[in-house]
Amino acid sequence: MSELDLRALVLLLGAIGVMTSVVLLHLWRQNRALLPAAAWWGVGPTIIFVGTVLLALRGAIGAPVSIVLGNSCIIGGAIAMYMGSRRFWGEPLPRWPWIWLGLTAAVLFVFSVVWPNYPLRLTIVPGLMAVVQLAHLRLVWRHDHRSFASQFLLAWVAFSALALAVRSATAHLERPDADLFTPTLLQNVYLASYAFSLLGEGIGLVLLAQQRLQEHIRELATHDSLTGAMTRAAWWKAALHEVLRQRRQGTPLTVLMLDLDHFKRINDTHGHPMGDRVLRDFADRVRRTLRATDRFGRYGGEEFIVLLPDTGAQAGCALAERVRAQALQEGLPAYTVSIGVTELLPNDEPADPERALEGAIARADAALYQAKAQGRDRVVQAQAPAQPCAAAASQTGSGSAWATA
Ligand code: GH3
Ligand code: MG
Ligand code: MG
Repeated sequence: MSELDLRALVLLLGAIGVMTSVVLLHLWRQNRALLPAAAWWGVGPTIIFVGTVLLALRGAIGAPVSIVLGNSCIIGGAIAMYMGSRRFWGEPLPRWPWIWLGLTAAVLFVFSVVWPNYPLRLTIVPGLMAVVQLAHLRLVWRHDHRSFASQFLLAWVAFSALALAVRSATAHLERPDADLFTPTLLQNVYLASYAFSLLGEGIGLVLLAQQRLQEHIRELATHDSLTGAMTRAAWWKAALHEVLRQRRQGTPLTVLMLDLDHFKRINDTHGHPMGDRVLRDFADRVRRTLRATDRFGRYGGEEFIVLLPDTGAQAGCALAERVRAQALQEGLPAYTVSIGVTELLPNDEPADPERALEGAIARADAALYQAKAQGRDRVVQAQAPAQPCAAAASQTGSGSAWATA
């Protein structure tokens, strides 16, 4: 071990930092809006690189620059990477790490210029860095410890925190006249571990960024960008899955078709942008009413579709009525919705789940057509139910009714 050139190892560590920075900053440049965190992540290892160059110049430049600024850069880089992760998960950026950094610089100045003491510096710098790494570890764990990207990152941050803590705790074993490049076994292991963990951390951050991009692409492919409702294709796939589950478990399943009334008039009177706002408001209104397991899709234009697992027609009517009767938002033109409701009854449906779903959609659509024909702003149930959606009928003439499709 002692043949390792520690100065070269420190520079290698810096080079790993630069490589990590290039990749992360590239990701940031390509996806600024989606990955603002990658700017912090990318700048961190570059600051670490600057720190390693200053440390490697020990002897050629003065102690304040090499020791104080060099070590401060290395801690500052670790802090920047931690800040990046806070940004990544939308957490506020705290001030304590920078105070931490200022304190470190002051303490380093005292023990390198005023009372030079290497073992003490070696206790302080890795010790303070271990605290930053532990804060990073805790943050990542709190937000995500299930995905591969997070687990990879967690492993390396934990490894680096451990290496730093061990170095800090064993600093007193060093001779007082030793320095950063005295090739003791502990120092060899410490610097090599730190270089590896920086590489691992960098790869972990790239994986996290890539995971976020993938989630975004999946979201774009399966959700409508205006309303956030599922696209028709994604809804269909999810709905088929539910139909199959219903058949296995014998639970009820209900489909709603929802269509905004006279929406063309809203566009014509208030303009398309206002029409878009109404569509978004309506989608929010539906989402507020649904459970997490319900499937909400945009069927086309101003027509939406909802699948309610574990829900019978009556509960479906009640839910549709809650959507219909919600208070209007201030600042938006008044608008109403007509809704068709139908339950999928496994015994009465075709055996093929796709045909069963098509049949249910056709029935809900026919009920919706009836709602329009009866004057709009109402809920109509397809198939003669045991009882109509009467509980929901309002006194203004709008409300609920039933119809055979
Ligand atoms: P009805 O009560 O019979 O449903 O009448 P309607 O006017 O709502 O129905 P129609 O099908 O005649 O008009 C639907 C309108 O929805 C026409 C179309 O321009 C508008 N539309 C569809 N998609 C969008 C969209 O994404 N944004 C906006 N602003 N308008 C849209
Ligand atoms: Mg309409
Ligand atoms: Mg329509």
